[in-house]
Amino acid sequence: MKTVRTDRYDFVVCGGGVAGFSAAVAAARKGLSVALVERSGILGGTATCAGINQLLGGRKLDENGNHLRVVGGIFDELTDKLIAEGAAIEPNTVDPDFNPFGWYPRMASGISCNETALKIKMDDMCREAGVRVYFNTVICEADFSHARLSAVTVFNKDGFVRLEAESFADCTGDADVVAMCSLPFSKGRSEDGLMTPCSMEMHVEGVDAEALVGYQNEHQSPKLVEIIERLRRDGIWTFPSEIFVTVRLVEEDVFLVNTLRQTCIDGTCEEDVTRALMNGRRDCLKLFGIMKEYFPGFAHARIRKIADSLGVRETRRIHGVYTVSIEDALSGKRFPDTVAATTYNFDLPDPIRVSYDTMMGDARNPNATRKHVVIRLPYRALLPVGAENLIVAGRCISVDREVLGAARIIGPAMMTGQAAGTAAALAKGNFASVDTDLLRTTLWADGVLDPDTLPFSF
Ligand SMILES: Cc1cc2nc3c(=O)[nH]c(=O)nc-3n(C[C@H](O)[C@H](O)[C@H](O)COP(=O)(O)OP(=O)(O)OC[C@H]3O[C@@H](n4cnc5c(N)ncnc54)[C@H](O)[C@@H]3O)c2cc1C
Repeated sequence: MKTVRTDRYDFVVCGGGVAGFSAAVAAARKGLSVALVERSGILGGTATCAGINQLLGGRKLDENGNHLRVVGGIFDELTDKLIAEGAAIEPNTVDPDFNPFGWYPRMASGISCNETALKIKMDDMCREAGVRVYFNTVICEADFSHARLSAVTVFNKDGFVRLEAESFADCTGDADVVAMCSLPFSKGRSEDGLMTPCSMEMHVEGVDAEALVGYQNEHQSPKLVEIIERLRRDGIWTFPSEIFVTVRLVEEDVFLVNTLRQTCIDGTCEEDVTRALMNGRRDCLKLFGIMKEYFPGFAHARIRKIADSLGVRETRRIHGVYTVSIEDALSGKRFPDTVAATTYNFDLPDPIRVSYDTMMGDARNPNATRKHVVIRLPYRALLPVGAENLIVAGRCISVDREVLGAARIIGPAMMTGQAAGTAAALAKGNFASVDTDLLRTTLWADGVLDPDTLPFSF
């Protein structure tokens, strides 16, 4: 591979989703020279490209009905700025009796954002921190030997460019860099490798929220289950999903539709992803036609956009120095090196029964028992076994598959990102050498909330 030039940094962050964005900003604010490499032309990854403009996991409903802050740091900074500009909804302003943000009061803890404002705010924060962003740039090769990554080769309009650094972060969601380094990972269910379904998201406008929410309140039918059952009997509803999932975004008439689920797709396989993108767009049109005809509130709706990227919930999970087990999660295990946490519920739909979650039960049942726990994420879960100067953040960290459903949400993904970027400033090219007491006090001083101080019990 002939490279056109070599660029050198202290820290190269691979992948500009919410985790990579947080890692890059955190490291640059500590004085490192930082490159952030992103294959698309915008920051945010799934949160923007796949249309997920509802940032969950940063607030948590307490017994008094308050949506408490549980992540802090860059998550709060980003969302507070958007809320102040009217580009995001403050959860504590949502009327629990008229709640189009997911209907269950706890779902109002997700912060709905305007997508354009979100991606521009991330640009601004990178610019202010001095991060060198490489857009439309794909990571294609890793130069890895003797436990050290010396460079990644990227491809963009300039040609092949070599990026050298003292340390690197893999925030590709798919652990692409870990895989390129031939480091160990798991993918999918242990018995058959199948992964949770992918989704093609769409945004619709012109929705009559009063009609939709009014119907759901009156019939106690948050997900229109009985309408879907009838449509299925009549041969109209042919999708595998048994529930209609939609949440309001910032404007009153604009809703995110998160209903389509495609099974047996491997998000790291080009052929699968291409097929899922094409089928997903086709299915969006079909679903929209059904919504207009049969669902309350959508008669005059229009499609505002179909997402540019496929929504991929699950691919590789790295094998870290520590793997957070389901037993750790359910017992609320504390770690001396906890740097992040998730308070979100388990949310990893079954690969085939797409409205069923092994940890949560049948999603059609609005009264399904919800398990809400504080799952702490130790620093060691970000460190791939066998690498000295590579750290991982976001949805591919080292957790049991059952834990992924809670850990993959945007709030905790940003928290692990901030931890990774802050660690890079302390690591001097060897992440295992980081003084985790110092890392933790640095994070808390930077506004990240210490998970051990959260008021939630089991
Ligand atoms: C359908 C769906 C619905 C969801 N709903 C919600 C929700 O309502 N609220 C919520 O909080 N969370 C939700 N999630 C989860 C959440 O959005 C993601 O898990 C989270 O955003 C992951 O962030 P990340 O930064 O780890 O990874 P990603 O968002 O996947 O970002 C990775 C980035 O790396 C880039 N990249 C990947 N490979 C390369 C490469 N080789 N070269 C260069 N760049 C590369 C990608 O383009 C991307 O920008 C949902 C997820 C899905 C799929």
